[in-house]
Amino acid sequence: MIASPLPLAPVHFHDSCPPKAGAEPPIVGARAELQLLTTLKCNLKCTYCSLGVGEVLGSQTEIQYDIEQLAAFVDAHLAGKDVYITFYGGEPTLNQPLMLEAMRRFPSFRFQLQTNGTLLDDMPAWALARLSNVLVSIDGGEAITDGYRGRGIYRQVMRNLAKVRPLLGGTLTARVTWGNPDTSFEELDQLLAEDSPFDYLYWQFVADEMYGQASLDQRKAVLRQLIARFFAATDRLYPLIPLMGIVRNKLFPDRAQELYAGRTQCRVSTHLLNVMPSGEIYPCPDMMYLPQMKMGDVKGNWLRASPLQATPAMPCPGCEAYSWCRGNCMKNLYLGYEKNDARYRQNVVEPICELLCFIGQEIDRHGPQAWFERASLAARKQLRDCEVYEYVEIMP
Ligand code: SF4
Ligand code: SF4
Repeated sequence: MIASPLPLAPVHFHDSCPPKAGAEPPIVGARAELQLLTTLKCNLKCTYCSLGVGEVLGSQTEIQYDIEQLAAFVDAHLAGKDVYITFYGGEPTLNQPLMLEAMRRFPSFRFQLQTNGTLLDDMPAWALARLSNVLVSIDGGEAITDGYRGRGIYRQVMRNLAKVRPLLGGTLTARVTWGNPDTSFEELDQLLAEDSPFDYLYWQFVADEMYGQASLDQRKAVLRQLIARFFAATDRLYPLIPLMGIVRNKLFPDRAQELYAGRTQCRVSTHLLNVMPSGEIYPCPDMMYLPQMKMGDVKGNWLRASPLQATPAMPCPGCEAYSWCRGNCMKNLYLGYEKNDARYRQNVVEPICELLCFIGQEIDRHGPQAWFERASLAARKQLRDCEVYEYVEIMP
């Protein structure tokens, strides 16, 4: 079933203004993800950082709520939900005390860390053991990573990962922002090699004007190789999250209904709460500069349904990819169609949608149903139920 698009409500709420009775519940479904931005400071300067938009990066460095205010918010709005916390930033490990305090205060929650990996070796062993997933940002191989992040960063991160890998309780996922069209199949594949510390690779297409025709062709050539590699094995899954997720959605569309009420799989329309250091809550971490996106406040202890929803202006229901894409990314769709930013739509949103449709067609060429029928039970289970889907956007 396709969820009916809901209108974006350009309503301004105040701290003293709770949602009206009869409004949609603030959290849709059984799960809730608290993405705590422990600081908006970062110790690196990645050239493409999305928090640079609206000058969010670096704007708040101190937490303005305390852990008991967060606990009161959880009691009031998230009771009975399967709650998990993602530590996010800036660079979240720059505020380790908040991370450790939250892990002690909410011992039954799941925890994920999104980090640049440079300070991971300073985390205590007990905390590393409690993390269900660690997402480490990396841009591909050494040359491209150091080009975006600074000289020596790739090796520093790899050294840290070798140190902490045996201490991690959960999975380790490489998070690649695929900005550079020169990123090769080999350097992405290398992140999943036998000697790599990573269990999974997740990539996202950069949300920037980097999609000229030559760049699109280069990316399609790499995608073709990745997809062929994915379908080459049936005994073991090639752990590339976006391909796993898309194949899962094609074979088991019920999962997208169950986990996100059929809405976008980055959870911004259903159950993702980005808590800024000030305690203000927004659905998408890249849109915290827009006042109309505010959906709650920890200090004021209020929460309303996410304002970031599909609208009739968006083209998704008529798109060939909709049944498995489900309208990722809502930020891009909002800027391109709701805000009607023609330049962003033509140079960023439409090329990414073209790449998504290409991925779907290329997957179909490999016969996913027949592949699944030959796959080992372990590979089938991992494809269907992988927990990492809950922590990332699934769609690239
Ligand atoms: S590919 Fe683009 S237009 Fe199609 S469903 Fe996905 S986000 Fe919507
Ligand atoms: S995929 Fe979702 S969380 Fe990520 S930028 Fe887009 S709307 Fe925001």
